[in-house]
Amino acid sequence: MALDSSPSRLYQATFGPPIVMATAQHPPPPHDRRARLRSGVRGRAGGFTLIELLVVIAIIAILAGMLLPVLARAKKEAQRANCLSNLHQIGFTLAMYTADSQDCYPYSGNGWPEMPFVDLLKLYSPYIPNGTNRGAFFRCPADQGPGFNFQWVQQTGGAGLTTNQLPFANSYYYYFNFYNDDTGSRLQLRKTRDVTDPVRKAIAPCFASSPHGFYNIQLDTPTDSHGRDFMLLLFADGHAQSAKYIQLNPAPGPPAPGTVPTYNFDWTTGGLKGNDLR
Ligand SMILES: [Zn+2]
Repeated sequence: MALDSSPSRLYQATFGPPIVMATAQHPPPPHDRRARLRSGVRGRAGGFTLIELLVVIAIIAILAGMLLPVLARAKKEAQRANCLSNLHQIGFTLAMYTADSQDCYPYSGNGWPEMPFVDLLKLYSPYIPNGTNRGAFFRCPADQGPGFNFQWVQQTGGAGLTTNQLPFANSYYYYFNFYNDDTGSRLQLRKTRDVTDPVRKAIAPCFASSPHGFYNIQLDTPTDSHGRDFMLLLFADGHAQSAKYIQLNPAPGPPAPGTVPTYNFDWTTGGLKGNDLR
């Protein structure tokens, strides 16, 4: 019998059976792939390791942390623009009212709180369009409560008012001097000519509230949903603007202990002859 001297026979005789290498055409069995993933070695079929996933999550968290404040600021600015638009519409409503009322400001003969919370909205009613949007522009988009008027009545007891008397949600106020004399001591029908400087005399502020507190700058609490740096105001000439507190004249006299200067203007020095904007 002839000796087979071919290279493969010699190899097997010397080193034993040949080792067959796995190739791409023969993927490893499933249990091997799971073992590779557990060991952190990425296979040709793809997939992420735990470290890679954690890095991606960390990057997403960093991007979200950078974007969220920008989005929140953009939302605040959009609310401010919408609120100024509301104040403009209230200014048009007021202009139509005074034009039909011998240039007199809204006045019912009732004092505070009936006049600003109930009677004002009734006097405006003929000038507010009917339909589903009736009165919608009286609610500021930054008002997180049920509306300043409802929240004020609910939280303070309403000084005799009930929420049933409130016609609709209203975030805007009507300053005291426009239905009282300049000293604030008695009710008085006021005329547009009584305002010395309409450009700088505010008539209606936005008092958008937080969910759990009505607007109260006297207490220096962050209850103003537009932020704590400025107020959004309608002026007697019909223009609306956001004014920083440093641009505004505070109420006369030193603030009470533990409070900050008052900027609600019900007690502005000089009444309609005084200025709110410096
Ligand atoms: Zn507002």
